[in-house]
Amino acid sequence: MANKKAIDCIKKDDLIVIGGAGGFIAGALTRYFKDQGFTRIRAIDKKPLPEWYQVVEGVENLCMDLSHEENSIIACRGAKEVYNLAADMGGMGFIEKFRIECLRSVLINTHMIEAANRAGAERYFFSSSACAYNVELQKDPNVRALKESDAYPAMSERGYGWEKLISEMFCEEYWAERGMKTAIARFHNVYGPYGTWDGGREKAPAAICRKVIEAKDSGDLKIDIWGTGEQTRSFMYIDDCVLGIDMIMHCDDLIATPINLGSSELVAINKLADYAEEIGGVKLEREHDLDAPQGVAGRNSDNTFIKEVLGWEPDLSFREGLERTYKWIEQQYNDRKAGKRTVS
Ligand code: NAD
Repeated sequence: MANKKAIDCIKKDDLIVIGGAGGFIAGALTRYFKDQGFTRIRAIDKKPLPEWYQVVEGVENLCMDLSHEENSIIACRGAKEVYNLAADMGGMGFIEKFRIECLRSVLINTHMIEAANRAGAERYFFSSSACAYNVELQKDPNVRALKESDAYPAMSERGYGWEKLISEMFCEEYWAERGMKTAIARFHNVYGPYGTWDGGREKAPAAICRKVIEAKDSGDLKIDIWGTGEQTRSFMYIDDCVLGIDMIMHCDDLIATPINLGSSELVAINKLADYAEEIGGVKLEREHDLDAPQGVAGRNSDNTFIKEVLGWEPDLSFREGLERTYKWIEQQYNDRKAGKRTVS
């Protein structure tokens, strides 16, 4: 099946706008489009430029808060395609504690989609999340993988998940009422180099790699694991994620249709720790913090739909992706110790 990508649909000098580009996924997406030869990319984030995870050369970088209407209008001016990945988010530790911040991201999508539509953009991408799914279906670590229809009847993750669900609806209605082509991908945990690895917003793969590296460095051979470690997730490597975004955005069978973008390899957190120890060549004593945020008991991506429509699914094995990520975090850790600038 020949899936269409940006390269097949727009000209190299058409303007691509990417919101949240100072962060992990949108930073990687910016680099991806730049590497494909697109010459007009506008990258936007509210963080000051020195804090962006990746600053891609030859790209127009704007530091603006996209939750303000006037900034969204500036951001979308002249855009052919708009990718909105800006959101106030983090791992479980963040989204369970800061529900208001998560909910307020609804302002970003509200203004960005309207501005994109008024600017005459042809396509609009929204980064939704598996947290939009009904939490009642995620109470068992041996979870049934979530399929797209499982978002309704709605009982999303409080705060973050509900914001994603309502923003998805915006995308559906801008297509239904105004004919703007929108794309909605429900990401399942994304990980990889240039992701947050410290500071409280990091997700489990990066947090556990960092803890293994810290234990080795300090000689205190212990690791704390949030919860029993039996909770399960699937994790998608960043390269699969950006490729999936491109294909979903340019597939006319997926207009205004939420679709899972995640790996279907289910991994328990204890297994993740086994892998990280193996990669680090160390065995640590585990301490389970049963009071720490853990999220749902289990979550996996049912990839039946994406395989049917795109003939593709994210497929880099978790062990392989984790090894690449571990090595990158180890380098970051050493750079930080040496006083060099690092991501997060
Ligand atoms: P990230 O935190 O690394 O990047 C998000 C970026 O958005 C940050 O750099 C932040 O500064 C920016 N931002 C926040 N509010 C903004 C505003 N008002 N104006 C402009 N910029 C603003 O997160 P990420 O992991 O790259 O996630 C990108 C998108 O994918 C988010 O919408 C997130 O909800 C979604 N998502 C991510 C994952 C994952 O595992 N990383 C899973 C599901 C969904």
